[in-house]
This record gives sequence, C-alpha cells and structure tokens, in this order.
Amino acid sequence: MQRAALVLGAGGFIGSHLVKRLKQEKFWVRGVDLKYPEFSQTEADDFVIADLRDPVMCREVIDRKFDEIYQLAADMGGAGYIFTGENDADIMHNSATINLNVLDSARRRNSRKLFYSSSACMYPAYNQEDADNPMTAEASAYPAAPDSEYGWEKLFSERLFLAYARNYGFDVSVARFHNIFGPEGTWTGGKEKAPAAICRKVAAATNHIEIWGDGQQTRSFLYIDECVEGILRLMRSDFAGPVNIGSDEMVTIRKLAEMIIAISGKKLEIRHIPGPTGVRGRNSDNTLIQEKLGWQPMRPLSEGLRSTFAWVSNQVHHNAPTKVPVLEPIRPVHPERKRA
Ligand code: NAD
Repeated sequence: MQRAALVLGAGGFIGSHLVKRLKQEKFWVRGVDLKYPEFSQTEADDFVIADLRDPVMCREVIDRKFDEIYQLAADMGGAGYIFTGENDADIMHNSATINLNVLDSARRRNSRKLFYSSSACMYPAYNQEDADNPMTAEASAYPAAPDSEYGWEKLFSERLFLAYARNYGFDVSVARFHNIFGPEGTWTGGKEKAPAAICRKVAAATNHIEIWGDGQQTRSFLYIDECVEGILRLMRSDFAGPVNIGSDEMVTIRKLAEMIIAISGKKLEIRHIPGPTGVRGRNSDNTLIQEKLGWQPMRPLSEGLRSTFAWVSNQVHHNAPTKVPVLEPIRPVHPERKRA
C-alpha cells in the first residue's frame, strides 16, 4: 500500500523541499500551510490552506492515520524577526498553539510517528559567548537559557513531543536545525536569514554592502538538500533525539559575506552597521548525529552558496520582489483534493 505523509508548514522553505523529496520516494503527500509555496508549485497530492492554530481545522487536516507526520509549521524568521523583541508574544503563542493542536489531533487519529523541527536557538546563550568556541552538544541544553523567546518556545515544544512519546507511545524524532539555507528560501521582506539576505545585498550592490554587527559573530549554515536528508534519516532511525542537524563548517558573518562577494565576481566594500545579531558564536556539534545515524552533513558551504546566490540573484534581477500575500485560511473541504 502507498505510504502517506503529512507535511505541516509545506508552504514554507524546508517543508516545500521536503514534499518534493517525499514525492520522489513515492509517498502520497498532504501539505498544510497558511499559504502555498512562494517560488514553485507544490508537488503535494493534496494541499490544504489551513490555520493550525485553530484546533478544529487542525483535526480536519489530520483526519486519518498517516505513516509519517512532519511538523515544520512555525511563526519564524531571521534575526530581524526573532531578535528584536517586537514579535515575541506572537512567536510564542502561534508556534506553541500549533504544536499543542498537532499533537492532540495526531493522538485522536492514532498517527503516532511524528518529526518535530526544533532549533539551535534553544541552546543556552551562556555557552555561545565565545565566537571561536561555541558549545552546542545536545546535552548542554540545560540549565536552559535561550537568547530568544523563539528558542524558549522550541525548548517547550521539543519537551512536549517527548512527553507524548513517553505518555502516549508516540514515535517522535526531534531535530535541532542550525541555519538552513538554499534556493526558494525567503530572501526579502524581513523574515529572511543571513545567507539569503547577504546574497540579495550582493546581487543588488554596485559599490558596497552593509551587514549587521561587527561581522565577527560566527555561525554554520546547512544546505537544504542535506537538511532534508538528515530529516529522513532521523525519521527512519530508532533514535528520537533531540539531535543537531547542521553543518560544522563554522564561519564568521564577514567571511560569509566575503565568500558570497567572491562568488558574484564583484568588488564590494563591506560596511558594518548596528543590527540584531543573536549569540556571538554558534556551530553545529555533530558528534551525536554521527554516533547515532552514522552520518553527518559534509557538503562544503561554498557549493551551497553558489547555487543560492544564483537563485537569489535571479530573483533580484528578473523577478522583482513580489511579496506573495498570506491567504486567509479557508476551511478544508475534502482531503483528496489537489491544487488546480
Ligand atoms: P518557513 O517560515 O519558511 O516555514 C514555516 C511555515 O509555517 C510557513 O510557510 C508558514 O506559513 C507556516 N505557518 C506558520 N503559522 C502557521 C499556521 N498557524 N498554520 C499553518 N501554517 C503555518 O520556515 P522554514 O525555514 O521552512 O522552517 C521550518 C521549521 O524549521 C520551523 O519550525 C522552524 O522554526 C524550524 N527551523 C528552521 C531553521 C532554518 O534555518 N530555516 C532553523 C531552525 C529551525
């Protein structure tokens, strides 16, 4: 029998790529989101526009037993969205409500195999003050002290998923993503993250670009294909996590900008301006994923940046920034419907 997967947040960056991969694997896929993917047609067999904060809608989209459920829907964005403080209440309320509703609905349908996307933002800020030696071993999560409310919500929700595993026999997989990037990711509008934002600035610039902070803050960035690979490997393993899914190729933000400028072939000056930067240093510690899955991401950052720059540059020059409006949620009618 054909296996069925549900991807929540299928209109988003990682979710839309995951749908493509699940279709390659011959799954029947239902995607759910507030919006369709912005940059390409969804490949889901059925795509339901729904607001997962609404428990009734959530139960209507989880109306059967799925072999695999991927919970990626969240109110999220880059540093300009999650570190300013202005969106804290929305971020916490929206994402926590989604996770509470999803788990309750899945329990009612006896759909117990779920993936949850947590974030490296849940790691304690006190372990990430040294740009050269950040600590993100999974076991270093406590005493908890995330540097953002976004991180606190992720920590709460990963605990929630693990509690459902303990109390209701759910088979959960919890990953902590570290800065995922690639083509078809948000690149403008305020929710974009550093690689896409810098690609956009470089693509548009003739003389200089501005980057937030002094550029010495460190991060690692994982290309989308390897993120999807990690999600599926974790989901199909008997390890629940939480486990990092990230690259351990750490660079300063200035170095990231220099790499993108080099790819563009332009000569541009880098100017540093004040802006939200998050923790001083962060890198993915891949010891546990290697130990549990016998696998870790290996693709060089420069490769992913090349294809991402090409895509963002094309958006900047040929597809002037069209902001696709978030559709008003409509009540799903029948599940076996495909987007026209
Ligand atoms: P994204 O913003 O592109 O995708 C999230 C999707 O959730 C969006 O399409 C959004 O419309 C949808 N959504 C939000 N509220 C909803 C609601 N009430 N009902 C239905 N859908 C709703 O983000 P992404 O980069 O694809 O991230 C996917 C997941 O991975 C998120 O949970 C995010 O927190 C997590 N994560 C991502 C990164 C990263 O670098 N991209 C890093 C760490 C964790």
